[in-house]
Amino acid sequence: MTDLVARVAEVLPSVRRDLEDLVRIQSVWADPARRDEVHRSAQTVADLFTGVGFGDVRIVSEGGAPAVIARHPAPAGAPTVLLYAHHDVQPEGDPAQWHSPPFEPEERDGRLYGRGTADDKAGIATHLAALRAFDGSPPVGVTVFVEGEEESGSPSLSALLAEHQDLLAADVIIIADSDNWSSEIPSLTVSLRGLADCVVEVETLDHGLHSGMWGGVVPDAISALVRLLASLHDDDGNVAVRGLHQGTATDVDYTPERVRADTGILDGVREIGDGSVPQRLWAKPAITVIGIDTTSIAASSNTLIPKARAKVSMRVAPGGDAAAHLDLLRAHLEDHAPWGAKVTVTPGDVGQPYAIDASGPVYDAARTAFKQAWGADAVDAGVGGSIPFIAEFAAAFPDATILVTGVEDPNTQAHSINESLHLGVLQKAATAEALLLAALAQTAD
Ligand SMILES: [Zn+2]
Repeated sequence: MTDLVARVAEVLPSVRRDLEDLVRIQSVWADPARRDEVHRSAQTVADLFTGVGFGDVRIVSEGGAPAVIARHPAPAGAPTVLLYAHHDVQPEGDPAQWHSPPFEPEERDGRLYGRGTADDKAGIATHLAALRAFDGSPPVGVTVFVEGEEESGSPSLSALLAEHQDLLAADVIIIADSDNWSSEIPSLTVSLRGLADCVVEVETLDHGLHSGMWGGVVPDAISALVRLLASLHDDDGNVAVRGLHQGTATDVDYTPERVRADTGILDGVREIGDGSVPQRLWAKPAITVIGIDTTSIAASSNTLIPKARAKVSMRVAPGGDAAAHLDLLRAHLEDHAPWGAKVTVTPGDVGQPYAIDASGPVYDAARTAFKQAWGADAVDAGVGGSIPFIAEFAAAFPDATILVTGVEDPNTQAHSINESLHLGVLQKAATAEALLLAALAQTAD
């Protein structure tokens, strides 16, 4: 084990150089003008894994961005592990807001700044480092799968998984594209909340009326809508819709100071809801009003507004059914119409929550490897939102154990300006992955 830890440290400078080369490629699939760059980054990734010694390396696509598949066959009796990352990146936003050019990696205070340094070119670097530590011959079968359109919602991922099912089939799938609890404490991401949204329209009149003539006698639609929306929470900010599912989150300490730092909540504004932060974030439902259509202030007059609508977005805790939750939300909105206002609910998107069964020999091996590499136990973390492609892997390979790891930390600012990678986290993540590959060679059944 100590050999492997030392080997990762040895190969890390070369991996860091390769990561910097990858960051210099502007692989923004969402920008049609930079699609050649995405092809160039796919080729660079393919060359890197060829360089590691993998004999079977190909670039594939199914009508979307190019993905790389690189394979090292399993030694007799050993399991096969799929290592996932993505080589496309988010658009950089306003370059003027970056402290250093987004596509020119720069190290400051132990962090490497640049678009994609963490999300998710560091995922590629993690796999590269782990495999170089074995001189390209890990003791398990390894299939590296690096897709090129994750930041665009992976539209052709299911087609890729279906078309290349035989090449990609694995006993264990490691998805290196998530977060860590801190730069000192790793996370295994084990749950994701789902989504259900709708548009609610409130009508009180068949046409606008002069507020001086009729105000005080008949209701305007915005006042009715606001009361209806207010009924979605109790006075403490807990969701007031009945029958929604809640689970139990890992008991980890998330301080009010950290919430303040992580969110930018204004001085004097209080948190909402009961329970620990992880409980509220990962295991309870949440409801947010994300848009309202009504008369703008500029266009306003002394008129009772006849009609207004709002878009309501709900996060669904793992264990709940998103479609059933949408029905409960709809029933609540229809039952709480103030003053008999006419309420029409139009259902929107539904995405199921997802919980990983984080037990068994693979998870035991992972927890041991993480503890050795980081010197700290991994936190079973949830994610407040969804990562749809995880469910796609689960659907395509129902018998595989999925591990969601990552190289981000709370200061990474993925998707935002001044994205950065904590270089110590990269080393620990790569060490943990190398140790895990070694341990998985012993778990063959
Ligand atoms: Zn990512």
